[in-house]
Amino acid sequence: MTVKETTEDHDSCLCGARKRTGGTCGRPAGWGTDHAGYGTCKLHGGAMRNHRIAAQKSIASEAVKVFGLDLEVDPRDALLAEVHRTAGAIDWLREQIQVLDPTEVTDSPWIPLYRQERKHLIDVCRAAISAGIEERRVRLAEQQGTLLADVIRGILGDLDLTPDQAARVSEVVPQRLRALVDVA
Ligand SMILES: [Zn+2]
Repeated sequence: MTVKETTEDHDSCLCGARKRTGGTCGRPAGWGTDHAGYGTCKLHGGAMRNHRIAAQKSIASEAVKVFGLDLEVDPRDALLAEVHRTAGAIDWLREQIQVLDPTEVTDSPWIPLYRQERKHLIDVCRAAISAGIEERRVRLAEQQGTLLADVIRGILGDLDLTPDQAARVSEVVPQRLRALVDVA
């Protein structure tokens, strides 16, 4: 999971590559590269493609842990899937809020959830981008999430659900969204 296979126990804030003259490199990890804080420095291969990819995976792995996501796939895919899921959830929540009676808005459980998910989306997008996932792919995942929510909404609208069924929508849909993203 880390690029620093050249070294054993060293301060992970440092490059740590073994020097030909003995000892290890004391430059900051990722010094002079686009992955500052991770991996070896520019002078020890840090700017090479394989090192950059390894550093990006380390960054993504850490973010995935922060967000409490499963790390069964490439951590960069896990981050993108989370962008996708969150965008879908936000769209869904927005819809729930729009149909609230103005008197219900302040007490609605949707509001804090909506705020929380929006903040989460920003954090996940930021983490994905800093893990080297291009902005274009992040935006794409966001759009797909929104699209997905639109489709689900359309289907539910066409079904003319009974009040009992409609009441279960808020439980069933987020569950399904999550399951979908988990297998994707
Ligand atoms: Zn170095």
